[in-house]
Amino acid sequence: MIDFSLSPETETLRSAVHELAASTMRPIAREYDEREHEKPLEWINMMWEVSRGMVSLGGEEKRGSQGEPRPSERQLRTAVIIEELAWGDAGLYLSIPNAGLGGAAVAAAGTPEQKERFLARFREGAPKWGAMAITEPGCGSDTAAITTTAVRDGDHWVLNGTKIFCTSGLMAVEKSEGFVVVWATVDKAAGRAGIKAFVVDHHTPGMTVAKVENKLGIRASDTAMLVFDNCRIPLENLLGSPEIAPTSEGFKGAMATFDATRPIVAASAIGVGRAAVDFVREVLAKEGITIRYHVPPTQLTALERDFMEMEAQLQAARLLTWRAAWMMDQGIHNSLEASMAKAKAGRVVTQITQKAVELLGPLGYSRKYLLEKWMRDAKISDIYEGTQQINLLIVARRILGYSSKELN
Ligand SMILES: Cc1cc2nc3c(=O)[nH]c(=O)nc-3n(C[C@H](O)[C@H](O)[C@H](O)COP(=O)(O)OP(=O)(O)OC[C@H]3O[C@@H](n4cnc5c(N)ncnc54)[C@H](O)[C@@H]3O)c2cc1C
Repeated sequence: MIDFSLSPETETLRSAVHELAASTMRPIAREYDEREHEKPLEWINMMWEVSRGMVSLGGEEKRGSQGEPRPSERQLRTAVIIEELAWGDAGLYLSIPNAGLGGAAVAAAGTPEQKERFLARFREGAPKWGAMAITEPGCGSDTAAITTTAVRDGDHWVLNGTKIFCTSGLMAVEKSEGFVVVWATVDKAAGRAGIKAFVVDHHTPGMTVAKVENKLGIRASDTAMLVFDNCRIPLENLLGSPEIAPTSEGFKGAMATFDATRPIVAASAIGVGRAAVDFVREVLAKEGITIRYHVPPTQLTALERDFMEMEAQLQAARLLTWRAAWMMDQGIHNSLEASMAKAKAGRVVTQITQKAVELLGPLGYSRKYLLEKWMRDAKISDIYEGTQQINLLIVARRILGYSSKELN
């Protein structure tokens, strides 16, 4: 039988995080949208303590640490929690100290020793951030075009190149004892097989933050340009195998990062969409308008139709997201479902927040309320971790059985 209910433990956690988001994130959301390059340090310290006990927001082991016989709910629980945090504020949620995308890459492509070496630090000490740097000035969606190089020199890899739009890059590199996972090629002629992921520790000489972006949305989160100029890192910081062969697990391992992170991005999109839907419902209720769910479609007002459509789209995105997360918990390959969830959630949150602004008119457009901000925060879900178009391409390839060479 299909069961869509959450376990009592996940449900309890969900309501605790919702309370935390409502009481600590919403009150400072506007302030840190406007003070783009400043950080709410008190809140960050509090979240570092709270979130470590709650869930791995980055990518630690998928299975429960107790080795429990039944599959864990770890990934599903993470999706549920992220939806609540993004409902509180998407930019602040992205600023919570944790292993982040870098941690997910280590979990997907690293050896057990590397996982311990790089992720243990997120369990103790002062707040830390992990980041992942793939995108370059001349390469985004087409990761095979990466030009950053890694050349072996004795006991080191030497990295050279420029990475842009790295989420939490500043916090990982300069403001904490974190790390950045950098994708670079060890052999340009080998194409994808030559691309490897390298962990570069905070403050490593030769790695600098060249710029922090001014953005449309998620402005509480830093997005950095990183320059690598003869940046030397130990040989053992290459994630997985250094072997270059078309069958090499290296690039596939790095790509597997997205199977874990796309459902999480989808969950954060749903949180933003739900914030907008909740706000519209509240405003309508104040005006004495309640949505009539049980009248025939021919009797619905245009507003009721729009509102129900928003709710239905959000629910559809959530079900796809939970399925992708649940599959990961079961150890089932989920690349197709992860891309489906991400494409759907990215699209609907963009549409829902725009529709919400449209329905509420000036009230939606005014900076007095957070709705206009949610509309700005929404669009990123359609861009990072694979754009809308790229995720649809992946879905098409997997359904039709084409390779990336055959359908691009
Ligand atoms: C706020 C923010 C945070 C980010 N964080 C990170 C991060 O932490 N780490 C990181 O590495 N990157 C990050 N990125 C970069 C992001 O992942 C890229 O912007 C994204 O992958 C798209 O790459 P691009 O910008 O080079 O666009 P392009 O790849 O040049 O694409 C431009 C447009 O063309 C479309 N397109 C491209 N190829 C195809 C195709 N084959 N078929 C159909 N349409 C296509 C795209 O969908 C897009 O609409 C971030 C970006 C932003 C804005």
